[in-house]
Amino acid sequence: MSGKIEILPESISRAIAAGEVIERPASIVKELVENAIDAGGSEIIVELKGGGFQLIRVQDNGEGIDREDVPLAIQRYATSKLKSVEDLYGIHTLGFRGEALPSIASVSQMTIKTRISDSISGTILICEGGEIKRIAEVGCPIGTEVEVKNIFYNIPVKRKFLKSIRTELHHSLNHFLRLSLSHPSISFRFIHDGRVLYEHLKAEDPWVRIEAILGRETCHHLTTFEFEDRDITVSGFASLPTFSKGTADGIYLYVNRRFVKDRVIYRAILEAYRHVIPTGKFPMVLLFINLPPSAVDVNIHPTKAEVKFLDQEKVFHAVMGTLRSIHESIPGATDPVIEDQKKDGLYSKKPTRSPWQKKSYPLLSLGAQENNGNRTPMVKEGLNPEWKGAENIPVRILGQVQGTYILCEGEEGVVFIDQHAAHERILFEKYKNQFETGTLLSERFLIPVPIELSIAESFILESYLEEFHAMGIEIDPVGDKTYAIRSIPSMIHQRDLKEVLKGILDELSFLKRERRGTEPIQTMLVTLSCHSAIRGNFILRKEEMEELVNNLTPFNLTATCPHGRPIFFIIHGGELAKQFKRNRR
Ligand code: ADP
Ligand code: MG
Repeated sequence: MSGKIEILPESISRAIAAGEVIERPASIVKELVENAIDAGGSEIIVELKGGGFQLIRVQDNGEGIDREDVPLAIQRYATSKLKSVEDLYGIHTLGFRGEALPSIASVSQMTIKTRISDSISGTILICEGGEIKRIAEVGCPIGTEVEVKNIFYNIPVKRKFLKSIRTELHHSLNHFLRLSLSHPSISFRFIHDGRVLYEHLKAEDPWVRIEAILGRETCHHLTTFEFEDRDITVSGFASLPTFSKGTADGIYLYVNRRFVKDRVIYRAILEAYRHVIPTGKFPMVLLFINLPPSAVDVNIHPTKAEVKFLDQEKVFHAVMGTLRSIHESIPGATDPVIEDQKKDGLYSKKPTRSPWQKKSYPLLSLGAQENNGNRTPMVKEGLNPEWKGAENIPVRILGQVQGTYILCEGEEGVVFIDQHAAHERILFEKYKNQFETGTLLSERFLIPVPIELSIAESFILESYLEEFHAMGIEIDPVGDKTYAIRSIPSMIHQRDLKEVLKGILDELSFLKRERRGTEPIQTMLVTLSCHSAIRGNFILRKEEMEELVNNLTPFNLTATCPHGRPIFFIIHGGELAKQFKRNRR
C-alpha cells in the first residue's frame, strides 16, 4: 500500500503561500504601493475599478526593474532588498521578503511594465495564475506600472470571502492613506472607477499631508511632540485631552515608517491618556518611532504588520512619557499618577517641540469647558454601586461636589451622583420613548447646512442612511466629500450640529457591520443624550439638583449611564462608622 502523504502540485502550494500575503484587494494595494515607495518614486498613482475586484493598477516613477530581473521579480523569495541573514536586521525598505509579486501573480492576471532610466525601452511581462504568458520589449515611461486584474479568478472559494465593493474599497483606502501619511515627500493619487478620491501633492511639511487626510477640523485637536534619546526618536501628533473618539482607529503607529500594530505601544498610549480622557474612549495619535533597524525585528509577520522590539520596556516608557508630558503642560490635566512618576525620574528627558510644527495650536481653547465633565470619576473597585429600587432614592440633597457630583443622603448612606451620567440616562430613556412612539421632533432648515466628511465618515453615513432618516436626520451628498444637512432632531443645537453628527458617525464606526437591528438607533440615541446632558464642572442650583434626582426615579434604574459609566456611588453607613472606628449598634 502506498503512503498517504503527497507533495502538492505547484499550483496548490503557490495558492497556499499566496493566501498568507494576499487576503483581499487591499493587500495587493499595500504591497504594490510599498514596492513603489521602495523604488524611490516621487509620484505614485493607484487606480482601482470595482473596489479592486476588476482592476488594481499602481504606477510609479521610481528606479524601474532591469530587463533580466523582470522574470525574477515574480519568483518566490526573489528580492533586491536583502542579500544575507544579517541584512534582515538592517532593513531600510518596506519590503524584503520577496513574496508579494509572486503571491499576487499566482492569484490574478498580472501585467508589469517597467523601465530603468538608462534604457530607452522598457519590458512588459504578462502573467496568469503565476505562469508567465509573455515577456517582451515595450515603450513606456521610466518607472513601473503593475496591473492586477480579476483577483482570485482561479480560487473562487477565496473570492466568496470578500465583502462588498464598498467594504473592499474602504480597506484599500485605509492602506493607501496610512502609507501616504508617513511619506509626505511623495505625491499620491487614488482613483476609483475614474473618480479621483485623493490627490496628495508632495509637501515639505508633514502637517499638510495630515490635514489633507484627517481633515482640518480633526487637526485642530492635535498637537506635536518629539522626544529623542540617543538611538530612539518618538515623534508625531497627538490629540489634546479635550478630544476623544469612540474607537481606536485614530491611532496610527509607525516604526521606521512602517505602519504596524503593536500591543505594547497601544498600551503605552492608552496609559498616557488614562484619567485624561473618559474610560472607554480613545485619543487620536500619529506616532512615529524611529530606531536603528538592528533594534527591531520586522520579520515576524507574513504581511509585516507586526514587529518586535529588542527593548520593549524602553519603547513603552519613551512613548508613555512623551505623551504624558503633553498633558502635563495643560493646566488641570495633571494626574496623581503622573506626579508620582515624575518623582521617579521618568520625565527626566523632556520632549522638545517638533521642528515640523509651523503653526501653534492653543492648548486650552477647544471648548475645554464642554468636555471636562467627561473625566471619569474614580469608583474604587470592590465598591460597586447597588441601589435597591425606587423606594431607596436618596431623601436629602446635601449639595454639589466639584461642580460635578450631587451629594445626597439616603437610607443606605451617602450617595454621590454623577450629574452628567444621570442626566444622560434620563435623556436617553426620554428620547428612546419619543422615538418608539414617533414623537421625536425634528427641525427642517430653510438653508441646508453643508458639512465636509472624510471618506471613512461618508462610508459610515451611507451605510446607515435609513437609520439617520428614522432619527429625523436628512442629509445627502452635494459634492466631493460635502453633504447637505436638511433636517435634524430638534434637541440638537445648530451650533453643535457638525460636532454631534461627527460624534454619531464616530460611534457608529464602532459597530460591527453585521449587527444591525436596533443597535444603530440605540447608538444614535446614546450620542444625542450624551450631547444634550449637562456636563460636569457646571454649577447647579438646588432645584435643578432636585429635579435631576427626582427624574431618575420613574425609570427602571440601572447603575450605569448608557455608555456604561456608573451613575452613582454609595458610601454605606457601615463604612463611615468603620472609618471612624465607631461600634455600630
Ligand atoms: P520585496 O519587495 O519583498 O523585495 P516583491 O515581491 O514585492 O518583494 O518584489 C520583488 C522585487 O521586484 C523587489 O525586490 C524589487 O527589486 C522589484 N520591484 C517590485 N516592484 C517594484 C517597483 N515598483 N519598482 C522597482 N522595482 C520593483
Ligand atoms: Mg514588496
